[in-house]
Amino acid sequence: MNQNSPNQLQFNFSGVGCWLTVIAGAWLLGAIGLGWLVKSFFVLVGLILIAPIVLFGVFRWWLQRTIVEGPCPACNFTLTGLKGTESVCPSCGTVVKAAQGQFQRVAAEGSIDVEAVDVEAQQIED
Ligand SMILES: [Zn+2]
Repeated sequence: MNQNSPNQLQFNFSGVGCWLTVIAGAWLLGAIGLGWLVKSFFVLVGLILIAPIVLFGVFRWWLQRTIVEGPCPACNFTLTGLKGTESVCPSCGTVVKAAQGQFQRVAAEGSIDVEAVDVEAQQIED
């Protein structure tokens, strides 16, 4: 068998032929008045390609607005949490709440949070 005979000549349509088929199909649909179908198809493909990028950007923007990072009010251990949620400090076990860009201690109902101030003996004598 002679493998170079014209009867067995085959073209490889996997690369350029595939795109030619798509373009020819699009032209044919446009020629018979279904151009809107082709346009909507390309719009759909564009949306599918753009949607993940847009969603990723929105997700990052949401994370920057929602995540609070700061020191624990009791032990200065660096905490990370979602805004408005309560969590427990893994270092000292204090219940803290993320609000206004920082962590605040959650006091029990009716308790008064006081801040201790160091006073030197000489100041009292004056
Ligand atoms: Zn702590």
